[in-house]
Amino acid sequence: MALLLRRLLVPAASVLLRAASTPGPGPLPRLLSALLGPRRPAAPPPPVAPPPPARGFKTRAALRRRCRACRLVKRRGRWFVVCEQHPRHKQRQL
Ligand SMILES: [Zn+2]
Repeated sequence: MALLLRRLLVPAASVLLRAASTPGPGPLPRLLSALLGPRRPAAPPPPVAPPPPARGFKTRAALRRRCRACRLVKRRGRWFVVCEQHPRHKQRQL
């Protein structure tokens, strides 16, 4: 008898566990949405903005070379300091 009961209970428990572990709306919200009709379609995600063109640069009003490897370059109408030996020397004109 106990074996029969166990054989009946174990699959049900495993189904419940699987339902609890699955992400997303549980059975209750699904039931509610089925009763209330389809949910409004979610708004499209906002477009992902491209990273700013000068990431990793210090922005300064006055640029200065901090070592001999620093180079002044003009890009997109702005002066930049690029340094291959010390990346922390990179600067961008305000
Ligand atoms: Zn430098």
